[in-house]
Amino acid sequence: MIATKRIDGKARADRLVADVAAATAKLKVEAGIGPGLCAVLVGDDPASQVYVRNKGKAATAAGIQSFQETLPATTSEAELLALIAKLNADDRVDGILVQLPLPKHIDPQRVIDAIDPRKDVDGFHAQNVGQLWSGGQRKALIPCTPYGCLLLLRDALPALAGAEAVVLGRSNIVGKPMAALLLAESCTVTIAHSKTRDLPAVLRRADVLVAAVGQPEMVKGGWIKPGAVVIDVGINRVAATDGKSKLVGDVAFAEAQGIAGSITPVPGGVGPMTIACLLRNTVIAACRRRGRAEPEI
Ligand code: NAP
Repeated sequence: MIATKRIDGKARADRLVADVAAATAKLKVEAGIGPGLCAVLVGDDPASQVYVRNKGKAATAAGIQSFQETLPATTSEAELLALIAKLNADDRVDGILVQLPLPKHIDPQRVIDAIDPRKDVDGFHAQNVGQLWSGGQRKALIPCTPYGCLLLLRDALPALAGAEAVVLGRSNIVGKPMAALLLAESCTVTIAHSKTRDLPAVLRRADVLVAAVGQPEMVKGGWIKPGAVVIDVGINRVAATDGKSKLVGDVAFAEAQGIAGSITPVPGGVGPMTIACLLRNTVIAACRRRGRAEPEI
């Protein structure tokens, strides 16, 4: 029986935020630059409001100026594109974050592609995606959630090169960029999805398993290779026995105990890393846009 380690994403994120705060303070003292992050929220989705508020608080705590643009759900695509153009031209803004999902009448890709790629702190712009896949990670702004997963993986498994990695899920925001990052670490990468045949057998090959499917506790204990490092990206709200609700991941956490070598909990695993990596991207974007050396964080 393996003693499964719990990967503490909160503690790792706290360290990263402290590094970001130190880099921000240094920029202010040395160059008089105060990095700025602007969140754009369209509509009144309560979950999106909470996310944007939390990101704003985290930015302020790390010494980053936080701006917010809130638009009604009836905003046209042209009006949103005009706001993006204004933020692209605003020198106080180093990072632009458009909170997804957008109302159905707005094409999210058209909006993302309108963001100045140097300010695209989500890393979703085609230019950043291309640079990530073509090996130019040092030029790209890398999507926050997969980069956060990579930082946790590097701590859990320092020798990533040659490891069999399976990424479950192929979304543009998690699965695909995660696969690109693992490939860059010289893992042998498989991307699994809803059409993958014999998913349990594919997952059992994984020394490194990243689950990003959005299906509560779908990955069973018996699908995990003994000793594997498991990163659970899923955030699923389900009914709890006390009549309330609770958050669970995409992996059956209790079943993974005694099988996985280490695993991230939900909550307290990948979630805090995502926000910390957003702050990291903002400081990096601020340095790059001004031709300054970027902090090694
Ligand atoms: P998504 O866009 O819905 O993509 C889900 C992926 O999972 C798709 O590629 C889909 O396959 C695959 N999939 C769905 N059901 C499957 C099944 N039964 N068997 C095999 N594959 C299946 O989701 P996402 O945006 O990547 O997010 C995934 C999860 O991560 C969600 O729970 C989300 O809330 C969470 N998340 C967390 C953070 C964080 O900060 N912790 C950030 C982002 C997302 P097809 O492509 O074939 O349809």
